[in-house]
Amino acid sequence: MKEDRLLNPDICHVVAALCHTQYLVIADPGLPIPENVRVIDISIKKGIPSFIDVLTAVKEEFVIESYIYALEMEAANRCLFDEMNDLLKELPSKKISHNDFKGLLPNASAIIRTGECILCLLAVSICGTDVHITAVPPGYIAKPNTVLGHEFVGEVIKKGSAVSHLEIGDRVVVNPNDYCGVCVYCRKNMPNECQNIIPLGIEYDGAFAKYCMVSSKVAYKISKDVPIEIAACTEPLACAINGLNKVNMKPGENAVIIGCGPIGIMIAMFAKASGISNIYLLETIPYRIDFTRSLDIGRVIDVKNESAKDIIYADTEIGTDYVFDVTGSQIIPSIDLVRKGGKVVLFGVNKKSVSQIAQCEVTTKEISVLGTWLANATFPEAIKVLEKKAILYK
Ligand SMILES: [Zn+2]
Ligand SMILES: [Zn+2]
Repeated sequence: MKEDRLLNPDICHVVAALCHTQYLVIADPGLPIPENVRVIDISIKKGIPSFIDVLTAVKEEFVIESYIYALEMEAANRCLFDEMNDLLKELPSKKISHNDFKGLLPNASAIIRTGECILCLLAVSICGTDVHITAVPPGYIAKPNTVLGHEFVGEVIKKGSAVSHLEIGDRVVVNPNDYCGVCVYCRKNMPNECQNIIPLGIEYDGAFAKYCMVSSKVAYKISKDVPIEIAACTEPLACAINGLNKVNMKPGENAVIIGCGPIGIMIAMFAKASGISNIYLLETIPYRIDFTRSLDIGRVIDVKNESAKDIIYADTEIGTDYVFDVTGSQIIPSIDLVRKGGKVVLFGVNKKSVSQIAQCEVTTKEISVLGTWLANATFPEAIKVLEKKAILYK
C-alpha cells in the first residue's frame, strides 16, 4: 500500500510521457512493467523511492532538456517543488494544470486520487512529538525530509471525484493516522493499530505547509464557529477521549493525572465534568503548575517540592480510583498512587523510559494497567465536544 502511494504505475506513465520516450519507465518491484521499456530500479538501492529519488535517477541516466510541472504541485508541496527546481535549475520549464496533464496522458488524472482532498491550512498545532522529532538527538524518529505537522485544521480547496461527504469550502480536521480498513486490526475495529497505517506529518508530508493532501476517509467537517486555534487541537482531544474510553469514571470517584500538558488538562476537564470529586494533577514545570492552577480543575501538586503520595493518601486513605500517566514514563508512581482494584491508564511514548516494577504490586493490588494509543473512532466525539463547548476551552 505504501509503495502504491509513493510510486504507482500512473506516475511511471507520466514520467515516461514527460521524457518523450517509449522505452523509459521508472519501476518499483512488483509494478507491472510494460513491454519494451527500460527500467531504472532505484527502489532496491534506496528503499522506497520518493519523487526526488526518481528524478535524481532519471537525471543520472538521461539528459533532461526541459521539464513540465503541475501548478497544483507548487501549491500542494512547496518543499518538494523547491527541491525539484534545485535539481533541474537553469532548464527551461513550463507550468501547466493537472487538467492539462489529462490532455497529455489518459490516466494522469490519478495524480489526484479520487478519495483525496487538498486542504488550505488554517492552523497547525505543535505536538510534543514534533518537539521530540526535532530534538538533538531526536526522541522520536520521523522519515527524513518529511514535512511535519499532524494536528491541524484546514479548508477543502480541491477534492477527488469519489469524495461525497465534503464540499469545497468545508472546514475540516483530520485524523493524521490514515488506516487501510481491511487489515486484521482494522477489521477488529482498531484502526489506530492498523498494520498499514499512514502517519501524516511523520512519515508522509504533513501540515506545516500552506497546503496538504489528505485522505477524505480521515477528514471530518467541523463548525466554523470553533476558533481555528481550538479546532487544531481536535487530534489530542480525540486521543484523550480514546484514553478515557478505557475506563468508566463515576461521580464521587477520584483520579490522579500525572503531567499537565494539553492532554493531561483535557483529561482533568473531562473528569471534572463527569463528577469526579478529587482530581490531583502532578507536574514539575513551574509555568505548567501556574497555568494549571489558574484553571481551577483540581489540586495541582508540585512534585519537586511536595509529596504527592502523602497528600493523596491523607485525603483518600487508600489511593485513587484512577491514575492517568500522560508523560509516558511514570508507571512506578502510578502503581503507587492507585488504590487496590483501581485502574492505571498509560498515555504517551517515551522509548527511552524503562522502569522496573515488581509484578506482585499489580497482582496483590489487583490493579488494571491499560495502554491507550492514538485516536480510535473518537474524532466525531471530539468535534462534538468542541462544537458544544462541553469542556471549557477559552
Ligand atoms: Zn501529536
Ligand atoms: Zn488497517
